[in-house]
Amino acid sequence: MNRIPRRTFISQGGIAAAWMMLPLNFKKVLNYNEMPDKNQFDVIIVGGSYAGLAAGMALGRAMKKTLIIDNGKPCNRQTPHSHNFLTNDGKTPAEIAALAKHQVSQYDTVQFFNGTATGGNQTTNGFRVQVGTGEMFEAKQLVFATGIKDLHPPIEGLAECWGISVIHCPYCHGYEVRNEKTGVLGNGDTGFDFTKADFKLDKRLNPLHQRSFITYGIAKRKTATAPGSNY
Ligand SMILES: Cc1cc2nc3c(=O)[nH]c(=O)nc-3n(C[C@H](O)[C@H](O)[C@H](O)COP(=O)(O)OP(=O)(O)OC[C@H]3O[C@@H](n4cnc5c(N)ncnc54)[C@H](O)[C@@H]3O)c2cc1C
Repeated sequence: MNRIPRRTFISQGGIAAAWMMLPLNFKKVLNYNEMPDKNQFDVIIVGGSYAGLAAGMALGRAMKKTLIIDNGKPCNRQTPHSHNFLTNDGKTPAEIAALAKHQVSQYDTVQFFNGTATGGNQTTNGFRVQVGTGEMFEAKQLVFATGIKDLHPPIEGLAECWGISVIHCPYCHGYEVRNEKTGVLGNGDTGFDFTKADFKLDKRLNPLHQRSFITYGIAKRKTATAPGSNY
């Protein structure tokens, strides 16, 4: 029988003791190849609204094993109806997203995780993404389709009116408020350009004579609950 030298015994014992004292989740970190198959994908998409679902459909059809992680807070969730989007004019944002998700979910190459991607890192084989439950997923490629977050000016009531009577785009929602009293909140060249676009909707917004009208504020306040909104 081989005898272990005293020095080796002490050093190996120390390593074993230190390993046992490490936090459980640290020890559970796996290499890409050791991750359970169900948690490994070709592509992970963070964000499953229109952009994420469109990417998911293209990837799923290309036989890429794809995971879409989404926490259900698209930027337009508060607006009552979407417009200027052919074949979907007048539908709620939630209706459009639900139909898109239904169509993408027909592809068995695409899976969904309802929740938030809370962190991640690059690995030697690709990327590892952690979700709110603590579960980890890995993929060779990672797509961010997380959209944008609108930062509102600190005006009381503005957030509640966002997408309803405070509109971000005259082409999406201007027609619905045509001829109603309108103010433009903006400044510089962008604000001036918006006034020009809005002039056709409210003739009182004559940009040639009322440049000082910019930064005017919000003309009217109307709150409503958008159908299908998460609010
Ligand atoms: C008020 C308003 C009204 C609009 N109206 C119209 C209109 O009438 N017509 C039109 O053509 N366009 C309209 N738009 C523009 C349109 O909504 C956007 O172009 C579109 O939503 C962009 O899609 P997206 O997938 O890039 O981002 P989003 O739709 O914002 O989706 C991003 C997704 O990523 C998810 N996400 C973000 N971070 C994480 C994370 N860490 N983990 C998991 N999920 C995450 C979010 O929950 C969300 O579901 C409107 C926009 C706004 C703000």
